[in-house]
Amino acid sequence: MIRKIFLILSPLFLYFSLMGQIVMEKPIVKENDPYQYTSRNSSSTSLQTDMLANYDIKYHRLELEVNPAVVFIEGNVTTYFIPTSDLNFMYFDFRNNMVVDSVNYHGNGVSHYFSTSVELKIVFPGTIASGILDSVTIYYHGVPSSGGFGAFMTATTTCSTQDSVMWTLSEPYGAKNWWPCKEGLTDKIDSVDILITAPIKYNIGSNGVLIARDTLGSKITDHWKHRYPIPAYLIAFAAAEYSIYHDTIDLINGGQLDVLNYVFPCDSAYAHSQTVQLDTVMNFFIDKFGPYPYETEKYGHAQCRFGGGMEHTTMTFMGGWWYYILIHELAHQWFGDKITCGSWHDIWLNEGFATYLEGLTCEQGIQSTTFYNWLYTKRSSILINNFGSVYCDDTTSVNRIFSSRLSYNKGAYLLHMLRWVLGDIDFFSGLNTYINDPDLVYDYALTSDFISHMETAGDTTLTEFFNDWYYGEGWPDYQITWSVDVSCNNKLRVDIQQTHSTGGNTFFEMPVPIKFINGTQDTTLIFQQNTPEDNLFFETIGFSPTDAVFDPDLWLCAKSTVTQESVPVKTIHWIGQIDHNWQLSTNWDCGVPTLSDEVVIPAGTSDCIIFTGEVVNCKRLTVEPGAKLITQPNATLNVGY
Ligand SMILES: [Zn+2]
Repeated sequence: MIRKIFLILSPLFLYFSLMGQIVMEKPIVKENDPYQYTSRNSSSTSLQTDMLANYDIKYHRLELEVNPAVVFIEGNVTTYFIPTSDLNFMYFDFRNNMVVDSVNYHGNGVSHYFSTSVELKIVFPGTIASGILDSVTIYYHGVPSSGGFGAFMTATTTCSTQDSVMWTLSEPYGAKNWWPCKEGLTDKIDSVDILITAPIKYNIGSNGVLIARDTLGSKITDHWKHRYPIPAYLIAFAAAEYSIYHDTIDLINGGQLDVLNYVFPCDSAYAHSQTVQLDTVMNFFIDKFGPYPYETEKYGHAQCRFGGGMEHTTMTFMGGWWYYILIHELAHQWFGDKITCGSWHDIWLNEGFATYLEGLTCEQGIQSTTFYNWLYTKRSSILINNFGSVYCDDTTSVNRIFSSRLSYNKGAYLLHMLRWVLGDIDFFSGLNTYINDPDLVYDYALTSDFISHMETAGDTTLTEFFNDWYYGEGWPDYQITWSVDVSCNNKLRVDIQQTHSTGGNTFFEMPVPIKFINGTQDTTLIFQQNTPEDNLFFETIGFSPTDAVFDPDLWLCAKSTVTQESVPVKTIHWIGQIDHNWQLSTNWDCGVPTLSDEVVIPAGTSDCIIFTGEVVNCKRLTVEPGAKLITQPNATLNVGY
């Protein structure tokens, strides 16, 4: 399915190595996980060109045979496609260590060869006309390389060293390691059938609905049918001697959903104790973001032996049964699967969102972790380093794409700060229209698509916000100095300075919350800091605070120091309440100024007049733009220093 043409910004050949990464943000595991799995094969390559742009994928039928104890695959993949221009040849992403036995087109073999290490070229006997549905079948076998998070893996189960499990995990560049496909993030496959043959003792979990389990001699074939658009990297299967159980969820929007779980037998009881809790999470997400995206099929889990989880559509693969990862992967069914990032630069649209949805379940009391503690942990992990943007600036590095600090945690915190800037109503409204946008659902999105939804919801521009927090690196460090003048109605003087963690010039335009407290009272004031010059604020509150706390609810991804000082110089503001006479104390917020006071005549107040014959004093005088001070004939103004 092709709905859009995206500009490919990546270099022609993208190469990454899992060894010797420059930045090691996290071990090579999918999601945040208690342990690390080291993949067997340490390198991979990827090609993203427009070589595959001249046809629209409609359908794949994968008919593959495996033995989970052995790293080997054989079979065929049939692809239905519509040429978008006349074709004499076509390409598939496929790694050249695999052996292509034949390519069948209209009942005849056609020539084929690997034009690069990762591109299979098929040459047709004549020209195939544009716009007409056609098909081709590729027969192949071989030992798929792993790479990435382990694209094609076998291991023993947690139950016995005699029990094998095989699984695939193709994100981001691994699909081509084990089947010929179109791997780029531009053309979702409209539907797919996955038929996996294995020795009879195994069950195979995969996308969609299991419509048949056929036995032939000592082998079985499990046939899975998935009728939703899907990117190549989300097509997967897992095979083991699974124990199978169902959870049934009563959906708040009506009907029931089958949650199908393929679990190692010795882990079944614990797994069930975790997965059964997802009914609350499922209904919370439905309430917030709309129907479960695959409600005519199923949800489910299949157990594997990697760290964390992987959000394959309708069947998440899990390395264990951590509740927060179960929640994270379920969140991906909306953010990542229903709408998929349209380039790996935009991976935060998958990972930052799924991570923030974890936090929302804490806020809801669904998880035992409090929202405050969740935010504190995420923020701490971001602030541990000075650098780095949410925008993924190096898509050749799997480590960088899946940086837990940047793509996951800072991405989630970006959303939290956007919520702070827009307010709950506009924020959740924008999120809801984004995840239900008819032009984006079951397709790909870019960050610009998301921004436009949020700008519409907030009726504002977010260019500056995203320049600071998405493309920009680092975070602000606030230095706050405050004093309270008890002789002047407990007037607060708050000086807010900020520096940038990377030493750059970026100024973060944010509303800054500060909580003022004493033994019995507290109040939180929000200071809108739009420019570096917006640094000095005066407020009057109904009590004398003894302490101040920066950002008590953790809205900002920032560090801070807060210092109380004695009242440096009294600053008196013109309020112009009675008439325009400088000498009337009710026109000032702290009485008539003296030579020891600083004076501010703020913008937006009425004119201040020094009448004829009067002598007035102040230490320093600030007349803000738009305000006016009128001195009548023979009036005297003494400004000291
Ligand atoms: Zn994730």
